Amino acid sequence: MGGPVVEEFEREFAAFCGASHCVGVASGTDAVRFALTAAGVKPGDVVVTVPHTFIATTEAISQAGARPDFVDIDERTYCMDVTKLQQYLERECSIDPRSQRLIHRKLKAPVTAVVPVHIYGQVADMDGILDLARKYNLLVIEDACQAHGAEYFSKKENAWKKVGSMGRAAAFSFYPGKNLGACGEAGAVTTNDESMARSMRMLRDHGQARKYYHDIEGYNGRLDAMQAGFLTVKLRHLADWNRQRQQAARFYDEMLSPLDGVGRPYCPEWVRAVYHLYVVRVQDRDGLQKRLTDSGIGTGIHYPVPLHLQEAYRHLGYAAGSFPVSEKVAAEILSLPMYPQLGEDQIRRVTQVMSESHSSLHVAIPSAQPQPAAQV
Ligand SMILES: *Cc1c(COP(=O)(O)O)cnc(C)c1O
Repeated sequence: MGGPVVEEFEREFAAFCGASHCVGVASGTDAVRFALTAAGVKPGDVVVTVPHTFIATTEAISQAGARPDFVDIDERTYCMDVTKLQQYLERECSIDPRSQRLIHRKLKAPVTAVVPVHIYGQVADMDGILDLARKYNLLVIEDACQAHGAEYFSKKENAWKKVGSMGRAAAFSFYPGKNLGACGEAGAVTTNDESMARSMRMLRDHGQARKYYHDIEGYNGRLDAMQAGFLTVKLRHLADWNRQRQQAARFYDEMLSPLDGVGRPYCPEWVRAVYHLYVVRVQDRDGLQKRLTDSGIGTGIHYPVPLHLQEAYRHLGYAAGSFPVSEKVAAEILSLPMYPQLGEDQIRRVTQVMSESHSSLHVAIPSAQPQPAAQV
């Protein structure tokens, strides 16, 4: 199929993530989709994720034939709020006595999977999510498209776990801007489940295990050998690049700590985040972004409109106020420059402009002021 170059990358990336299998695919979107389908998500199922993510997460859920549904995020980590997930499962779903399946009462459809998103290089609270998944018999597919190499301390296992080794499977994107980026589109799924890996190898290649013998209808979703070659070379630097990002984040934290009203990224002691993005929160986000733009500093907003308020998801029937934390966060976040080669002088320049804007921006502390990421 992909040949030896793809296989070499798959072996090395699986080892990097602490997973037994890696299946290279054409994009992160395909990775989420194939993982859901191979795990057994069926058309008509409900798959639960967060509104505070890139639309690819929910596109992949829809492409797998399922209906995306949402629970809100934790205001400090920006990842799925485990308590909200628990409330969703307890209050909006019930076990059908005949089939023993978990059914969403209003949607009258089975809830079969959860997709936590490790946003910005942070890690969702996986112990809590996996506990609930066990209790309610749900598949967990990690969206690790922004978190290559991030680690989570599992209290249950008393061990640090790499992102990509905790759920039934995990999806990665190697889009050029990610922590590990190809020269074009690429992605991968990691899993410890051999039969799932086998079915994803079929799905990515027109449903064939042998050329022109198609057991199922699949997709054109293979990882290109040229991209795999680039990725194998770049993978050797990923741990170093992540360390450089962590160093830059620490320096940002230090420089921003005197600025009241600037919410810095929260990094709990149970996470080693990899800072795909360094995201701050201020009340006058648009004002601050303009000041930085005027000084020649490029910033981003990831993401300005939560998914439940996007035109594309109008049919899901949500409105402003449905997921208040995601909505509040979306209005206040700003992604500052972040990449491995970002130097202290550059960070000083960014934070200098921010402190000059400070008094005129009337930035106010967000209600849950995040703690500095001191213990990265
Ligand atoms: C980038 C990204 C994806 C999709 O990856 P592509 O390779 O662009 O298809 C999915 N989820 C999240 C959270 C992402 O950031």
